[in-house]
Amino acid sequence: MDNKERSQSEMLKEKLFSQKKNAYFVLEDSEINSAFEVCEEYKAFMNKAKIEREFVNESVKAAKAAGFTEYEAGKKYSAGDKVYVVNRGKAMLLAVIGTRPLTDGIRLAAAHIDSPRLDLKQHPLYEDKEIALLKTHYYGGIKKYQWSTVPMALHGTIVKADGSSVDVNIGEDEGDPQFCVTDLLIHLADEQMKRPAAKVVKGEELNILVGSRPFKDDKGSQLVKLYTLQLLNEKYGITEDDLISAELEAVPACKAVDIGFDRSMIGAYGQDDKVCAFTELKAILDTKDPAYTCVAVLTDKEEIGSMGNTGLESEYLRYFILRLANSFGVDGTAVISATQALSADVNAAFDPTFPEPTDINNGCRLNYGVAVTKYTGARGKSGSSDASAEFVGKVRRLFDANGVEWQTGELGKVDAGGGGTVAQYLANLDMDVIDVGVPVLSMHSPFEVTSKIDTYMAYKAFKVFFAEK
Ligand code: MN
Ligand code: MN
Repeated sequence: MDNKERSQSEMLKEKLFSQKKNAYFVLEDSEINSAFEVCEEYKAFMNKAKIEREFVNESVKAAKAAGFTEYEAGKKYSAGDKVYVVNRGKAMLLAVIGTRPLTDGIRLAAAHIDSPRLDLKQHPLYEDKEIALLKTHYYGGIKKYQWSTVPMALHGTIVKADGSSVDVNIGEDEGDPQFCVTDLLIHLADEQMKRPAAKVVKGEELNILVGSRPFKDDKGSQLVKLYTLQLLNEKYGITEDDLISAELEAVPACKAVDIGFDRSMIGAYGQDDKVCAFTELKAILDTKDPAYTCVAVLTDKEEIGSMGNTGLESEYLRYFILRLANSFGVDGTAVISATQALSADVNAAFDPTFPEPTDINNGCRLNYGVAVTKYTGARGKSGSSDASAEFVGKVRRLFDANGVEWQTGELGKVDAGGGGTVAQYLANLDMDVIDVGVPVLSMHSPFEVTSKIDTYMAYKAFKVFFAEK
C-alpha cells in the first residue's frame, strides 16, 4: 500500500515537477567526450586571444579558414555566402546568408570580447626611489585587491609619432619577463587591513612593477626609467611620448588550464565573456546553408557600459544590417524588427563557499547546462531587458527539441547587487532578445572558472539557434 502510494506520487512528481538535473546524469559518455574536446580548442584559443584586438585577429584567421570573406557594401550576396566585418580592430561581425528572405529576420548572437583588466595611463612610466613602475587605470568592475601579486602580461598596440604602429605581447611566451602589482607584507599591514575591502588596494595603488636596473651612468636622475625606455626603444622603436597614443592592457599572465582532479572545469583569465564569444564564433563557423541569415557579433566595451564606437551602444551593428538589407533591396528596419537575438553573456554560478547572494531555485549552477537569463538588472529589475514569456517559451522549446542542456539564470538574490548585458541595446533596436550564457565562478577576478559541460552546451545552444529552419 505504502509502496503503491509512493510510486503514484513519484509518477505525478515526474509529470508535474521541474526535472532539471546535473547534465552528467543526462548525457551519453560520447557527448561528454565531445564537450571535453571542444574545451581543448577553447583553451588553446584563449591562450592566443586575451584581449579584444587579439580575439578579433584570431577570429579573422578562423573565419577565413572557414571560407568567410570580408564584407563589401553594395556587393550582391546570396544564400550560403559567408562574410565578416571588422570594426576598428576591436569588434567584429560575422554573417552567413540564409535561404529565407532577409525580411524574415536574422538569427543573431552577441558576445563581448573585452574583459576587466588594468589599462595603462597615457603617461604610465615613472621612477620612484630607483624602481620603475607603470600607472594604470582599471577597466571594468573589479575587486582591486585581487589584482595585486598576480603575474601579469602586457598586450596591446602603440601608434608611433610617424603613424606606424607596433603590437605588444610580452609575458606570455616561455621565458618572457612578466610584471606584477605589489602588495604590502602582512607584518606591516596593520593600518591597511583596517581599510574597507573596496580600498584594501586603491585605484592609484595598482602600479605595475617593470624595472629596477639603472642605466650605467652614475650621474643624473631617473636612470632606471631611462634603462627601461632604452629597452622599449630597442624592442619596439618607441619613445616615451609614443605611449600617449597606445592602448596597452595588463592582463593576468596565466594560461587556460583544467581545474579539478576530474578536469571537469576550466580556469582562465577573461572567460567573461570570451567563453560565450568563442562558442558563438565556433557555432557560426560551423553553420552551413542556414534558413535564416545568421549574424555573430563579437563586441567591445561591454564591461564599461558598451560605450564608444566599438561598443553595442554605437550604431555599427544597425548600419551593417541596413547595408546588408540594401544589397538585397529590402527595408532594413523590417529586417531588424523581425530579428531574434541571443545576448551571449555569462552569469554567476552558485558558489558553495559563498551561498548567500544566490537564490538557488533561480540562480545557475555548474554542470546544469547553459543558463537562460530572462532578466538581469538591479533593484526592481532596473536596467534590465526583461525577455517576454513568448520569447522564453520559444528558446525553451528550441533547446529542449535539440538536446541542449539548459537551466535558468538569475544574477543573484533580489537586492544582492546586479548587473546588465548587451541585451538592452539589442532590445532597443526592436529585436526579441534573451541572455544565454555560461555560469562562471569568481567572475571578474584574474582567474575565472567555468564547467566544460556548460561551455559545450553554450556552443550547442548557439548552433541550434543559427540552424533554426
Ligand atoms: Mn559579460
Ligand atoms: Mn562582465
